[in-house]
Amino acid sequence: MTTAGSHSTMQTSVMALETEHILQVYKRNPVVFERGRGCYLYDADGRAYLDLVSGVGVAALGHAHPRLAAAISEQALTLLHTSNLYFHPLQGELATRLSELSGLPRAFFCNSGTEAVEACLKFARRYWHAQQDTKRSGFVAFEHSFHGRTIGSLSITWDDHYRAPFAPLLADVQFVSPNDPDALFAAVNDSTAAVVLEPLQGEGGVRPFSRKMADAVTEACRRSGALLIADEIQCGLGRTGRPFYSPVLGLTPDLMAIGKALGAGVPIAAALFSDRVAKAAAFGDHGSTYGGNLLACRAALVFLEELIDRDLISHVASVGAHLERGLQAIKARRPIVRELRGAGLMWGLDLDRPALPVVQAALDLGLLVNRTSDTVVRLLPPFVITASEVDEACNLLDQAIAKTAEAQTK
Ligand SMILES: *Cc1c(COP(=O)(O)O)cnc(C)c1O
Repeated sequence: MTTAGSHSTMQTSVMALETEHILQVYKRNPVVFERGRGCYLYDADGRAYLDLVSGVGVAALGHAHPRLAAAISEQALTLLHTSNLYFHPLQGELATRLSELSGLPRAFFCNSGTEAVEACLKFARRYWHAQQDTKRSGFVAFEHSFHGRTIGSLSITWDDHYRAPFAPLLADVQFVSPNDPDALFAAVNDSTAAVVLEPLQGEGGVRPFSRKMADAVTEACRRSGALLIADEIQCGLGRTGRPFYSPVLGLTPDLMAIGKALGAGVPIAAALFSDRVAKAAAFGDHGSTYGGNLLACRAALVFLEELIDRDLISHVASVGAHLERGLQAIKARRPIVRELRGAGLMWGLDLDRPALPVVQAALDLGLLVNRTSDTVVRLLPPFVITASEVDEACNLLDQAIAKTAEAQTK
């Protein structure tokens, strides 16, 4: 068996080829994955890794899920893509399911989270344009937010190191601390098109919004008339054991962005709209070539059948509580863990030091976790993870943390 430090020539040559020809924007972990099954990934040398990243919250049904695989191969033999010039049977069906789940009656389908956020930004402005209120173009976002990498979504993403190399971004964006209701009331006014937030922030370090701040958001939107955009791309669609996290905080967004888990590995995302926002849309206002094609919709329908009809969401709630107990025990044992934050199957362990060595030690032990916001070890396991896989993961993570704590106090 090899460890993460030693690779077969096959893994080494894959890495060398990428170094030559791939735009170097990803600092990848030194491992080449070839196949998966359930919550495990296997590298090119056949070594198994327990996957608590799930492709950054995407592979919600785990890897090589038999029903998903059967449905998408059947769909590939039937029809993959027709464009949005014509009708096909699956978009309306998927939109109906999403509307039942979210309470937002209309959907626009796209291919990635950032596009879903872009659609929300555009249709928030479109709404005010339709009211002939063209000075309402501003957005109020929050510190530690992450909304994507295209120019619009990057403009409402907080972290300066993502933003600075690409300036100038959208001009009329203001960031507010998620702990400062007064700053929020000062920022949201009659030039604000929308307030935009992740009810449970992901990339920014797994930080839940407080109920108090959520109430202030609702009040600020009510006073000023500003729309509310919820980015549920990471925390939505069952990840926390609830369909969405906004209702947990008492928030009722006018627009919502979803993605990641939606296609369980097939790229699909969506923006969801309230009636009043949807009414402002006119033919030709927006579009996507791939958006909502048959393959992507089929995958999303299978995902929702598993989540809702076959009640995977109850499993997320119970196995998530089991994971929380395991992580609490780690925190109690390991003083380098300052804080544990999250819900369901979305957790961050905030350390008193950089998290990268823990991620690397875990990889050596055959456990995949990732780092976000420098000091946070983030866990986004597949929804199908079992209680015994959770125990195995907690055991490996505890070892990785112990190793890091020792290495740095020596
Ligand atoms: C991942 C993510 C995005 C961006 O999604 P992409 O599919 O990478 O474009 C936006 N918002 C949140 C909250 C996310 O977690």
